[in-house]
Amino acid sequence: MRCVQKDSEAVLVDKALWDCLTCGLCELRCPSKIKYIEFMRDVRQLAITDGIKAECSHGGAFQSLYRIMTAQNLKQNRLEWLTKDLKTSQKGDYLYFVGCAPYFDIFFSELNVESLNSVKGSIKLLNKIGINPIVLEDERCCGHDLLWIGDVENFKKLAEHNLKQIEESGAKTVIFSCPEGYQTFSQNYPEFFGKNNFNVVHISQLLAEKINNNQLRFGELEKSVTFQDPCRLGRHSGIYDEPRSIISAIPKIEFHEMNKSRHRSTCCGVGCWLTCGVTAKTIQANRFHEAKQAGADTLITACPKCEIHYKCALQDQQLNDEVKIEIRDLIALAAEIVV
Ligand code: SF4
Ligand code: SF4
Ligand code: SF4
Repeated sequence: MRCVQKDSEAVLVDKALWDCLTCGLCELRCPSKIKYIEFMRDVRQLAITDGIKAECSHGGAFQSLYRIMTAQNLKQNRLEWLTKDLKTSQKGDYLYFVGCAPYFDIFFSELNVESLNSVKGSIKLLNKIGINPIVLEDERCCGHDLLWIGDVENFKKLAEHNLKQIEESGAKTVIFSCPEGYQTFSQNYPEFFGKNNFNVVHISQLLAEKINNNQLRFGELEKSVTFQDPCRLGRHSGIYDEPRSIISAIPKIEFHEMNKSRHRSTCCGVGCWLTCGVTAKTIQANRFHEAKQAGADTLITACPKCEIHYKCALQDQQLNDEVKIEIRDLIALAAEIVV
């Protein structure tokens, strides 16, 4: 902070400002308990307010998409993917927040990502446990990425829109499969707008409870797997056991914990579609090697973005040949084998 006060201009224009993943790993180690990621958020807000552009991957396409979603009169064809076998309701106690997965699925179609399968799988699994959730036709991005790059003004516009939509729906509980949406609704919406008028749950919590009560079962799967704790679900939200309960409930699956797991887990290498380069690729390659060393042939994650970044890293044929690892989304996988 002293550095910002002393020579703020130099700090704000430094490209390194956009390198932090806001993964929170350093906060675990910090003896002075500095809230480093909130500090980064605040400094980035100063930079954005000064008109400095963030260092974004993909030419800033996603940040532009999120900002487009702040337009009040926006028309979205958001639910085209919703097939008849997936049961939803117009009114009810539960609402499933879809998030940006349908957009990711199109943008990264060449990577065969499972973003949309994860969303469809979420509804299939919710139906299995007796929930036919409301899904919103005019939902917007939760605002996670804009918040953490310091664009608080546009984050607030998205949040206000979503909060109004949820209030009008009458839902009492909002369910998420996306860890970033879960974190944003459970921590950041209350931070900016006060206590939510609804409960926020991650789908893994609902599924784990049903598994514990023997009300949800899966078919056999012979795979050696490990689990990537997405930093937003794990370190930021404390949800470590529930995804593991789902994996452990799959007959014949072999689960291998990586050395850096749970609160010590490393991020997937890219946060908020900011800087992506050598550091990101090194983090990703190291993670694949760690998964292999643990004895896994499949790395399961519960975050659509982790899946995208990892699959992208495996486009490097040399690395792909070296590690020979499969990347799967937890919910898409569970929905495939639920009985
Ligand atoms: S990337 Fe993670 S560990 Fe590194 S400074 Fe940012 S929050 Fe801390
Ligand atoms: S993509 Fe996953 S691991 Fe990467 S910053 Fe987001 S939650 Fe964390
Ligand atoms: S890892 Fe790939 S998908 Fe992710 S930000 Fe970098 S280039 Fe984009």
